[in-house]
Amino acid sequence: MCGVFGVRGIPEAAQLVYLGLYALQHRGQESAGIVSVDASGQTHTQRHMGLVQEIFSPERLINLPGDLAIGHTRYSTTGSSAISNAQPCLVNYHAGPLALAHNGNLTNAAELREDLVRTGSIFQSTSDSEVLVHLIARSEARRPEDQVLDALERVEGAYSLVMTIGRALYAVVDPRGFRPLFLGRLGDGFIVASETCAFDIIGATVVRELEPGEWLRIDDDGIFEFPRLAERPHRRCVFELIYFSRPDSVIFGQSVDRARRDLGRRLAVEHPAPGADCVFSVPDSANAMALGYAEESGVKLEHGLIRNHYVGRTFISPGQSTRTEKARIKFNPVKDVVVGKSVVIVDDSLVRGTTSRSLIRMIRQAGARKIHLRIASPPITGPCYYGIDTPTRAELIAASHSVGEIQAHLEVDSLGYLSLDGVYEAVSGGRSGFCDACFSGDYPTQIPERDRAHEPSEISVVGAR
Ligand code: AMP
Repeated sequence: MCGVFGVRGIPEAAQLVYLGLYALQHRGQESAGIVSVDASGQTHTQRHMGLVQEIFSPERLINLPGDLAIGHTRYSTTGSSAISNAQPCLVNYHAGPLALAHNGNLTNAAELREDLVRTGSIFQSTSDSEVLVHLIARSEARRPEDQVLDALERVEGAYSLVMTIGRALYAVVDPRGFRPLFLGRLGDGFIVASETCAFDIIGATVVRELEPGEWLRIDDDGIFEFPRLAERPHRRCVFELIYFSRPDSVIFGQSVDRARRDLGRRLAVEHPAPGADCVFSVPDSANAMALGYAEESGVKLEHGLIRNHYVGRTFISPGQSTRTEKARIKFNPVKDVVVGKSVVIVDDSLVRGTTSRSLIRMIRQAGARKIHLRIASPPITGPCYYGIDTPTRAELIAASHSVGEIQAHLEVDSLGYLSLDGVYEAVSGGRSGFCDACFSGDYPTQIPERDRAHEPSEISVVGAR
């Protein structure tokens, strides 16, 4: 997953992009980059592996002059974790310098890439986003916007983009609108960002959320809105509301915090835990959900688990063993809260079950008498092809195991997942406007060719079903 941010019309734009990326760090922690464009149209770039605050020293920011800049935080979903895949992509083509930062995943990138390579394109990265750059450069149209349109008409899947061509800033959302993208203002300048929390950090005001299929150019004449991309049923990613976005953001027309509280309330209705002494979250992503659960059920809210904030997200590490170890150093139970108690633990989602299994063990060892695990979303049974890191079915515990088996594997006294109907009672907008393929298997696009052959494979964590 990734975060994107763009600024036009404000001196030292890179400084603002830096702050914006800081607020979007949760969307990607492997690498980050900024491309700035100065008044003469010359580009400057810094792309590195690591966290935003580690990468952008004052010296590096000074070397990014100009009133136009875009930036990106990356966690790889397509393409390996390598500096060559860090974004923004930056090339010089026949219309001038082009920089592109992409949030989402293209589902037909592999096929397009093969075609491009066969006909002479030389790729510098393994990321799907570079395909877009080649398609733009290969277009025979004359105007940059027509070249962009040519490219967009050939790609499928999820893309929220910020781009510069010459001195113009472009913002694009795919026709299904999987990923959020916002337009904002700061003084005389314009801002584009993945989430509203990135506007707050720089004191910018949100103008509006871009609609699916919307794309626009911002230049010296202001904003130019192009005709919408070919209409498709809207499919906002419901997992953005459940897990990915920051709770202080407002996305898809609703407060993320509010949606999460309501998910917690619905969870309490669907899966009460009679006799429980207290409820607490797996911090931080499930905090609002535990609050909602406590409000609805009347069970006392506690801080039963403390998170060490200096450890990155558990998933943001290659390899399963590192992930398991990280769970242990990332969380610690508060013994005084759990000892002798019947506790309800609320988490936003269950993916592989690895983190949860370690956590449950720690809480049991800390003296909990009973553990009721409540998940504020349905079982994840399929991978996401649109940008969230749930790469293979084989790694998803619920793809091949029943709720009873998962309960046994996690060694909890009870396990309850929120139903999909419950999700749509909590989030506003109605089921048809969302993508919930990871829960329902209802993929709104063709899934990538190479994945079609993959049958759901058995995993051995809890024995065969
Ligand atoms: P596990 O017990 O290993 O399935 O991990 C569950 C935890 O992973 C939950 O606390 C979620 O908040 C978190 N999670 C869910 N989806 C993702 C994701 N795509 N990337 C990182 N963490 C995630």
